[in-house]
Amino acid sequence: MLGAIEAGGTKFVCAVGNEAGEIFAREQIPTTIPQETIPKVIEFFKQYPVNAIGIGSFGPINVNRDSPTYGFITSTPKPGWRDYPFVQTIKDTFEVPVGFNTDVNAAALGEAALGAAKGLDSCLYITVGTGIGAGALVQGQLLQGLSHPEMGHILVRRHPEDQYQGKCPYHSDCLEGLAAGPAIEERWGTKGVDLVDRKEVWEMEGYYLAQALMQYVLILSPKKIILGGGVMHQKQVYDSIYKNLKELLNDYVTLPGLENYIVSPSLGDNAGITGSLLLARQALIEA
Ligand code: ADP
Ligand code: ZN
Repeated sequence: MLGAIEAGGTKFVCAVGNEAGEIFAREQIPTTIPQETIPKVIEFFKQYPVNAIGIGSFGPINVNRDSPTYGFITSTPKPGWRDYPFVQTIKDTFEVPVGFNTDVNAAALGEAALGAAKGLDSCLYITVGTGIGAGALVQGQLLQGLSHPEMGHILVRRHPEDQYQGKCPYHSDCLEGLAAGPAIEERWGTKGVDLVDRKEVWEMEGYYLAQALMQYVLILSPKKIILGGGVMHQKQVYDSIYKNLKELLNDYVTLPGLENYIVSPSLGDNAGITGSLLLARQALIEA
């Protein structure tokens, strides 16, 4: 039996399942401080004989195995989680192999194995939620260099009518600062769910996301792009993305029809937890 943790900014999802990515049991635990959240995570897994645990985590995280702080959450503003030794804590408790990657890399892995990019050795999974992040599968491997990519913080051109200063604590008006859920809420004065009928909101959202997708397409040339996260529940954003991306690319690169190329996750909200199970499988194989 394999264990999986999808560690998010608002909640942790814990699950047990098998090597095929099937989930047998799951539980949600609110993300507060590590001293509260982690004991509940441990309690959940104590009920099951797990052989390995995979973690898909919010970041930034240290994924460099040669580093003395491998497995730590690093520079998050979330109280208590900065420099938290996540992998070591789980490993010390259960004494099983632990796989560790970003939540979006886990989701990319899940969608490539069992979802919208099934059978492909290349895809990009982007979440547009409380933050913006992306995970990439390239030639069958999760993309990693010095660390994991941070594609949500790229710079974009401003929409001519956008006066909003931006919300990223590091860069103000990077993509995340202009287009994540909290930026939408602050710019327009109310939550995204309450802005359904405001066409200009979603046109602007697509304007920013299309620019990001253009860069990702040009740099990574993914075989499929999957857009998840709370903001993408607004299906009207897709139309703006397709329109703006088509204009931006101007037929320079040949893509499949955009409606089949840029899609929703077919695992829905299970992409991350399923991918985390697959991270557990990988850790077990490596060990
Ligand atoms: P997290 O990023 O914490 O994992 P979500 O992906 O659900 O969680 O993202 C939460 C953000 O998405 C919030 O800013 C919220 O306002 C926004 N959001 C959630 N649902 C919707 C929706 N249906 N329409 C627009 N925005 C939404
Ligand atoms: Zn930023």
